[in-house]
Amino acid sequence: LFMLIDPFKRKISYVRVSVTDRCDFRCTYCMSEDMEFLPKKDVLSLEELDRLCNTFIDLGVKKLRITGGEPLVRKNIMQLFSNLGKKLGQGLEELTLTTNGSQLDRYAKDLFDNGVRRINVSLDSLEKNKFKKITRIGDLDKVINGIMVAKKAGLKIKINAVALKGINDNEILNLVNWCGENKFSLTFIEVMPMGEIGEKRSDQYMPLTEVKSLIQTKYSLTEDSLRTGGPARYVHCHETDQKIGFITPHTHNFCELCNRVRITCTGEMYMCLGQQDKADLKTPLRKSENDQLLKDVIYEAISRKPKGHDFVIERKEKEQFVPRHMNVTGG
Ligand code: SAM
Ligand code: SF4
Repeated sequence: LFMLIDPFKRKISYVRVSVTDRCDFRCTYCMSEDMEFLPKKDVLSLEELDRLCNTFIDLGVKKLRITGGEPLVRKNIMQLFSNLGKKLGQGLEELTLTTNGSQLDRYAKDLFDNGVRRINVSLDSLEKNKFKKITRIGDLDKVINGIMVAKKAGLKIKINAVALKGINDNEILNLVNWCGENKFSLTFIEVMPMGEIGEKRSDQYMPLTEVKSLIQTKYSLTEDSLRTGGPARYVHCHETDQKIGFITPHTHNFCELCNRVRITCTGEMYMCLGQQDKADLKTPLRKSENDQLLKDVIYEAISRKPKGHDFVIERKEKEQFVPRHMNVTGG
């Protein structure tokens, strides 16, 4: 009745919310080394985030993913998980998180206790020095330990690895093997042109067709029909009995089944990751204690959700890119 349905008859059932633009890492493909973060007053409070999420649940959203920046560096973030966790089974079907893993040793058990069952952990390398090089700050041992604590706490883990040419291409097989041994799902992501990072994007770009060919030199893969409404295509890996996903925004159009919107930590809703159009939800949120104004703005914005994106990475002097950084939109 009050569902969010866009002009292409896609039902919006999944919202990704960035709870902070801050991060304890500075991954080379995501931020520049001297990234400037937003003034705190521009960022939604935990109470505002809670209210916003609850409004979406009211509007029929079934799945929430908390992301960032690094969501687990936001102060008192477990309060938000605790509040939203209470909505599980009351409209909300899944509460989940994307994290760099740096704080998992500390928070994995609380996440599980608040109803989180699956998490995505971003991990691009299993070599200590290279991991440091990619993240500029991260400590691989701490992340691996956090992942193992999370596994012990009962969380299902999916590893997301960005494929980076000349950087982690020689670790693809190792990542497949390690995830297989630990019963983690694995998804490879092509680097996307999000935000200025002070380096040329096309130098990092590695098409996932190459990643797949590399995996096939050692493992047998078959196509898997699983579609989750997200951009990933899956294959089944026989030797490890695992699904491996590929997110290839440049080579495939994945928009027909898109069921999601993204909200930045400042309360801007992006109806498509690859487009500029957005709606300001912070103003109605702060203007009125009644949620009706907010709901009206959300309905109106969903009626503008575009059919698809048009990313381009090419070997040109000036690259086309989406000027906002991934840590603001949330991955
Ligand atoms: N800090 C958390 C993390 O790293 O998982 C959550 C936010 S991060 C922006 C979400 C995902 O976006 C990560 O998996 C990261 O690898 C990915 N990402 C960031 N910048 C990207 C880019 N330019 N292209 C493709 N993926 C990117
Ligand atoms: Fe931080 Fe995640 Fe961006 Fe890396 S990808 S800098 S961990 S927000």
